[in-house]
Amino acid sequence: MKGQFYAKDEAAMLEFGQVLFTAMQAQGVVFLQGDLGLGKTTLCRGVIWAAGHKGAVKSPTYTLVEPYEFASSVIYHFDLYRLADPEELEYLGIRDYFSSSMLSLIEWPDKGKGCLPVADIEIELSIKELGRLLTYRSGTEKGALAVVQIEQLLAAVVK
Ligand code: ADP
Ligand code: MG
Repeated sequence: MKGQFYAKDEAAMLEFGQVLFTAMQAQGVVFLQGDLGLGKTTLCRGVIWAAGHKGAVKSPTYTLVEPYEFASSVIYHFDLYRLADPEELEYLGIRDYFSSSMLSLIEWPDKGKGCLPVADIEIELSIKELGRLLTYRSGTEKGALAVVQIEQLLAAVVK
């Protein structure tokens, strides 16, 4: 399953993050593909704010991962840009991050190739006009259900 969404500005990006959070039901693995400055962290901020976090959300460039804990869920925000070797993820205790009911948002997933689980949804960001084009596709059955949900939620938002 796949689809596209045009986020004309930062606000639309945050809105898509909210839709994504709802569609994923606070659980699963999301890959964010796209160069520096394309809006990956902005999208993560939308997801994390939708979960109820009030403060800043920055790329965890040096720590590689930032946890956000909520009453009944956890979101892990990864930025693997500075990861030299996917094996380093083992030292982070990476398996613990994907074991149960948590949502993982992963910027630069290619840097962790071979040491990451299959993404439920992969989102590719590209520049379009003044905004960003988001192309998303599912990689699992859960992801396929989420894509259907995204389409429905977007249809309701956009009108
Ligand atoms: P990345 O994490 O991919 O490096 P950021 O999320 O840090 O990118 O965003 C980089 C810049 O892009 C920010 O200045 C942000 O405001 C801007 N931006 C994010 N989403 C959009 C959008 N849909 N349209 C235009 N600008 C955007
Ligand atoms: Mg970033």
